[in-house]
This record gives sequence, structure tokens and C-alpha cells, in this order.
Amino acid sequence: MTDLSGRRLLLVHAHPDDESINNGATMAKYAAEGAHVTLVTCTLGEEGEVIPPGLRHLAADRDDTLGAHRLGELAAAMKELGVTDHRFLGGPGRYRDSGMMGAPQNDRPGCFWRADLDEAAALLVEVVREVRPQVLVTYDPDGGYGHPDHIQAHRVAMRAADLAAEPAFRRDLGDPHEIAKVYWNCVPLSAVEEGFARLREAGREGDLFPGVAAPSDVPGVVPDEEVTAVVGGSAHAARKAAAMRAHATQIAVDGPFFALSNDLGQPLFDTEYYKLVRGRAGAEREDDLFAGVDG
Ligand SMILES: [Zn+2]
Repeated sequence: MTDLSGRRLLLVHAHPDDESINNGATMAKYAAEGAHVTLVTCTLGEEGEVIPPGLRHLAADRDDTLGAHRLGELAAAMKELGVTDHRFLGGPGRYRDSGMMGAPQNDRPGCFWRADLDEAAALLVEVVREVRPQVLVTYDPDGGYGHPDHIQAHRVAMRAADLAAEPAFRRDLGDPHEIAKVYWNCVPLSAVEEGFARLREAGREGDLFPGVAAPSDVPGVVPDEEVTAVVGGSAHAARKAAAMRAHATQIAVDGPFFALSNDLGQPLFDTEYYKLVRGRAGAEREDDLFAGVDG
């Protein structure tokens, strides 16, 4: 018998909401199955734009209190997903949101984009050696769509995976641990095309969302053959949607679609896709990130 309670999954994300959008169904599934799911978020998302007009005063260019508010949104989202172990890299507020690529906030002292890579990775090594996950999920080297904090989250996660396994590295941070499998988030082009076709058919463009996003707005789109694992599905769709709704300053959900602050509708994927980049696949097309790890 496979001991499901021994499964440990670590996800590394840039901002509160990225975990629910990218991996909400996967997190809900593994939490429900008794796996230990750990989320590490690298910033509080202080530079996000705010959707509800009544909360726009929270934004960085006004009260600059969005970070504290998003802490609460993340906690509510984790409750929806059944995930109890969620942490911020170095503690809440250790690294600040760097804003979009090219924004003046990229140069602000203390922002995640300016973080020393090894210093930030050491903070994650401590988590890896404590939790001892078999599976790590993060972004591709472009962070899915080029956001500095997503790129940095990728770099920190990959560096930490290396350093955590290195016997000579910082024994004060715990005993060495090698993560068996590392996945990057992705979405196959065919799913993106189908999703946008559904969105157009639904004819709701003028309803909740003033417009429709372009398929190129979806982070991490890859040719179908690059996808190695497919997880989630309708059984976890409601929890994922509820978690996304909990991030109300960032996401507007309408049925199987959602919009970010740009008000452009895009498909909400309850099936989630991954590319295995380290470790051995348990099957040619995996439906379980732990395939080949147990037993
Ligand atoms: Zn993000």
C-alpha cells in the first residue's frame, strides 16, 4: 500500500494569488489526499493593481497597505484549498514586490528582484530541509511571462533545490535533502486555444469582462508535447475557483473564466499542467506528480 501521508509537495510562488491560479486544483487534490502541501510565497504582492473600486486606496501609489491585505486573502485562499502550511520567504515582508519588468520599483532596495540569490536561496533551503519534499513546483526560467518576481522565484527555487542537497552547505540549516522531482508550471497551446474558443462561444465578453485576453497573455504556454504531467480536473474545480475568488483585489472570477486587473477575460483551467525538469518520470504522461516516488 502506498502511504499517501508521506507525500510532501513544495510550491514556490512570487505573489499571493499565483498559487491559486497556477496550482489551485493540484494543491486541493494533494491536501485532500493527505499529502503535506507547503506553499512558499516570496513577496506580499504590494505592487498589484486593485480591482474593487472600494479597495483601490490600498494600492502602492495611495495608502500602500495592499501587502497586509493580501496576507489575509492568501490565508482565505489556503483555507479553501485545505492547505495549512503556507509561509513567506524569510517571513512576511522580507522581500517586496518588484513591480512589472522595467518599472522603477525594480530598483527599489528590498525588492525581490534585487535580492541576493544565495541569500534568498538559503532561506528556502531551510524550508526544504525541514519539510523534505519529494516534489517541487515552480515557474520556468522566464517566470511564465517575464515578471521579475516570477523569474527570481524560479532562480531561488532551483538554486535552493541544489543547495539543499549539498552536504557541505550550511549544516546549521538542517540535514541535506535531495528533491526527487522538480516541475515547472506550463499550459499546452491546445488547452489555451480551446479555452479561448469556449470563452468566445460563451459570448460573455461584454458581460463581466470588458474584453478578452490574447492567448499570448497566458503565462507558460508551451507546445503540447512539452507537457509531461496533467493533474486536477473537475473534482477540484470548485475549490480552485473559491481560492481564486479569495484573492478579490487581484482576480474577478465568472464561471469557468476569470480576469485580472486588466479586465480581460481568460479561461480558468481546472486541469493543471507540468513539465518535469529533474528526476525520473513515473509514466510517459503522468497524472500524479508523485508517480515513481512512493514505495
Ligand atoms: Zn505573480
